[in-house]
Amino acid sequence: MSQDKIDIKDVTPKTFNPKTHKTKGDRFNPSNRIYVRESKGTFQTLRRYGGWFLLVLFAAIPWIPYGDRQAILLDIGNQQFNFIGTTLYPQDLTLLALLFMIAAFALFFITTFLGRVWCGYLCPQTVWTFMYIWFEEKLEGSANKRRKQDSNKLTANLAMRKAAKHAAWIAIAIATGLTFVGYFVPVKQLVVGFFTFDADFWPVFWVLFFAGCTYANAGWMRSIVCVHMCPYARFQSAMFDKDTFIVGYNTKRGETRGPRSRKADPKALGLGDCIDCDLCVQVCPTGIDIRDGLQYECINCGACIDACDKTMERMGYDKGLISYTTEHRLSGKHTKVLRPKLLGYGAVLLVMIGLFFAQIAAVDPAGLSVLRDRNQLFRVNSAGEVENTYTLKVINKTQQTQQYQLNVEGLGDVSWYGKQTVQVAPGEVLSLPMSLGVNPDNLDSSVSKIQFILSDSEDFTIEVESRFIKKL
Ligand code: SF4
Ligand code: SF4
Repeated sequence: MSQDKIDIKDVTPKTFNPKTHKTKGDRFNPSNRIYVRESKGTFQTLRRYGGWFLLVLFAAIPWIPYGDRQAILLDIGNQQFNFIGTTLYPQDLTLLALLFMIAAFALFFITTFLGRVWCGYLCPQTVWTFMYIWFEEKLEGSANKRRKQDSNKLTANLAMRKAAKHAAWIAIAIATGLTFVGYFVPVKQLVVGFFTFDADFWPVFWVLFFAGCTYANAGWMRSIVCVHMCPYARFQSAMFDKDTFIVGYNTKRGETRGPRSRKADPKALGLGDCIDCDLCVQVCPTGIDIRDGLQYECINCGACIDACDKTMERMGYDKGLISYTTEHRLSGKHTKVLRPKLLGYGAVLLVMIGLFFAQIAAVDPAGLSVLRDRNQLFRVNSAGEVENTYTLKVINKTQQTQQYQLNVEGLGDVSWYGKQTVQVAPGEVLSLPMSLGVNPDNLDSSVSKIQFILSDSEDFTIEVESRFIKKL
């Protein structure tokens, strides 16, 4: 076992602490929901811009055209994935596997280096949750106000504001569902069909399904998803070491915590820099107290850093009582950024990215498959030739209509019955029944190996092997 592993600490509160939400079983109790206080500061601005960037990207991609089609469309129904100028078919799905491996190693690399920044800044669960909290804050007031309002009788005014909040949440959820499904079915038809009640059943079902998930996850479940349902939270510790950047509280500097006036000298009072204002707990979306130490619920969002920095500023103390730091730095040791594990993940990631682009470059612009007629292996036609029947499937993987030439090799003099020049639309799979006829005197064996050859106007050729049968 590596010595760099973080020591396991039991931070289970010995007594119920109403400031946090860590008491066993209480997280699912609606009366104990977390009222997250809005936090402002450098990291929250970064998180907001990062979230907006991803949101705009997510919403815009399905609407970007390429030629007369969507630039990115994962058309599951037709088993075609359009990526800008290339159409991928199920046989190209090693690319998708590589893409998943790139995403996994990127996550390993980033987590080893910066802990759960993905969770805190870019994970859709966090981005959507903070967006929903923004509406809650604007329509129902601050966290303290909401807590008080919810413990009192529901007034007409509050009911109206709650209704407006849920309407905004539902609108975002439906927009999210439409956008997500728009990656799999043409988005323009989907949106028009959805609002005119003219769409097919399954796309509408999936839009409503994903809208329901968005509403429930970001509106109601929030940190329950991060803490109890997300598998990433469970295996992240395997990637952490003492040089991983985490959100940490400087105990040496902060303790002994306690309130004091701004003018008081903390040293004279025997106090550290933590004034026990609890703002770091109130802004935490997962309802933990970072002063208890590193906890698996922490999503590295930095909200507590911004809240604490504001308090430090107000008190005239140095910022950074809570900061992005490492276990080594907190214990006064040197942080080693470039370490074998991180470099290893980085190297594998680069190899995967290289392989992905090499495979993309090697994707053929056309495909050919050959099916022999299974009902009749051969027949003798009216010209006295031995005739074999095939079905050729020609796939145009480009975004333009193409003309292809078809030929066969391996039989010498051969008669081709059917089209030898075909025009195929972008993404079309053309099925072409045809047959070959050969004078039986020119056939040396009962079974001959032959090659069907497809070529386009730009010197691309593809060969597919098949058999020509004279007799059994
Ligand atoms: S402890 Fe701080 S960084 Fe961790 S989730 Fe809570 S607010 Fe975010
Ligand atoms: S915000 Fe800072 S000063 Fe206030 S309780 Fe948290 S750690 Fe202490």
